[in-house]
Amino acid sequence: MPAFAPALSDARASARPSQSLTVPLDTVDFRRAIEAIKLRAPIEDVVRERVPTLRKSGALWVACCPFHEEKTPSFKVDPRRGTWHCFGACGAGGDQISFLERIDNLAFMDALEILAARTGVELPRRGRAERAQSAELDAAQESLTHAVSFYRRQLASPEGARAVDYMRARGLSQAVTEAFQVGYAPALGQALVQELRARGSALEPAIAAGLVRNNDQGRPYDFFRGRLMIPIQDLHGRVVGFGARRLDDDDASGPKYVNTAETALFHKGRLIYALDRALAHVRKLGHAVLVEGYTDVMAAHQAGVENVVAVLGTATTDEHAGLLRKTGARRISLVFDGDEAGRKAAYKALHGLLPLAVEIDVVSLKGGDDPCDLLTREGAAPFRAELELARPWFEFVVDGLAGLRAGELAREVDRVLELLARLAKPVHRESLLAELAERLRMPVESLREQSRMLRGDARPTPPRTAASAAVPPAALPLAALPTDPLLRQAYEYLVGALLRDASLFSRARPYFSACPFADLATILDVMDALYGDETANIDVASVLGALGDNPSRNLVVPLHEGASTAESASILLDGQVSFLKKRTIEFQSGALRRDALEQERLAAQGGEDSAAASARAEDLYRRLHAMLQAR
Ligand SMILES: [Zn+2]
Repeated sequence: MPAFAPALSDARASARPSQSLTVPLDTVDFRRAIEAIKLRAPIEDVVRERVPTLRKSGALWVACCPFHEEKTPSFKVDPRRGTWHCFGACGAGGDQISFLERIDNLAFMDALEILAARTGVELPRRGRAERAQSAELDAAQESLTHAVSFYRRQLASPEGARAVDYMRARGLSQAVTEAFQVGYAPALGQALVQELRARGSALEPAIAAGLVRNNDQGRPYDFFRGRLMIPIQDLHGRVVGFGARRLDDDDASGPKYVNTAETALFHKGRLIYALDRALAHVRKLGHAVLVEGYTDVMAAHQAGVENVVAVLGTATTDEHAGLLRKTGARRISLVFDGDEAGRKAAYKALHGLLPLAVEIDVVSLKGGDDPCDLLTREGAAPFRAELELARPWFEFVVDGLAGLRAGELAREVDRVLELLARLAKPVHRESLLAELAERLRMPVESLREQSRMLRGDARPTPPRTAASAAVPPAALPLAALPTDPLLRQAYEYLVGALLRDASLFSRARPYFSACPFADLATILDVMDALYGDETANIDVASVLGALGDNPSRNLVVPLHEGASTAESASILLDGQVSFLKKRTIEFQSGALRRDALEQERLAAQGGEDSAAASARAEDLYRRLHAMLQAR
């Protein structure tokens, strides 16, 4: 065992969970601390502790990847660079911190604090305002944790028996009730408030956490009353809010489900219920199953189907998709009721998830069953069988078009086209468009036209003034180019080549500002800042350090690896630069040509501005000509 390492569990116990958003990662002190930590916790030691099969092989260490199932080792650790990288299915890579983040499902700061604790490196303290804010969040968090145990105790009270009865009626066991920490909020509007007062606790944290509110007279009352209480945890298992189900099925007692209102800790659009529990299973199987309700999730886990999660509310957001991307799932199954409401919900979910470019399929349950009923009545087998028979999402939506009347059909086709527009890969979109045309017996061109109309003409806005469009590359920051996969690849190689050889920097820099991909642009920004700092190197380690906990850090090692198959970084970079130059000229000349045509049109209309427009058109054509000459 490496000498520096106390048992990881000790270090973890001493590292307090942190609010990672409030730490200034960009300070020099912070970067130095991270470098010191990495120096004292060599990558191969950190990895070997969690992956005991890691073996030395030449200059590298190799093992089967801990993040996906494989038989031949494609997971490599490079001690010289201080990085790890999976050359297999997940293609992930990074440094010590990202390794702990991924394997232990930690936030960046939590992983960093664990490493800091075991290497004895002190992290710079936070600023005072940030400490105060973080103390407030900690207090709100604590009041949620306390509320979980308070609500759970109420289950044992005579009044709580109705919540116990509800769980039993749904076929959910006591074990699952306990595992998911289900509780009961008393109907009396003051139970939690009284409890907090009896303990001598301040009410502010409970108010900040959405548990207590003040009425018009400023009198505090419990937000949740007479409801089954289901704690909702974030990805790190911290309780951030509740889902609460009514137990009287009369409408006077309010909506069926009430969630915690949005608070500093609780953001519905960024949470996936039970993902903290399901994560390891999703990762292992490469498969995530999305259901609609809390009880569906509990029933699935009770039956031993543990890769099941739920989105809170109806719509999936880009953030949900981001969370699922983090799990590395290669397949996502959506399970919905077979009725019209379920169908609508499936569409909404697809809208958020299609940009993910993973395999997505849909199960619509027949006969009015919800997954909870099916699972508690018949166990895992029929549910798993449904998953096996899931239809690819495109088939699901196309099947939905069958037998519709003309008016209805037009509306539904629009909805399908909207979904297609969400796909990340144009090639994929085109092939499905062709398939849709064939099924509908329509010319593909009219669907394409329809799709363009729905998107409101997705052509990129050209630079506003003709002058800025005419400026040759290196002189002024370029406007972002329209995205497409080839352009993405060019920027990926460009970043990779620069990571291999920073001396190429000035050749690539003129194209930084035109990068339309936010994640890559973040890396380019960081490189640019390092370039401006005379004491800094530009390499994998320094870029990782400077990125802090920005998600782009997960791209750095894969991009570096992606560039290392090329014979020379210089040749690789030159290829990308000439591609980008060509693209820029195409884009700018297109914009000039459009502006010139517009001026010509104005000139042709006659009127008092006609002469000026004609002169502008001429000027624009002159610039266009000069640009094409200079190519
Ligand atoms: Zn892997």
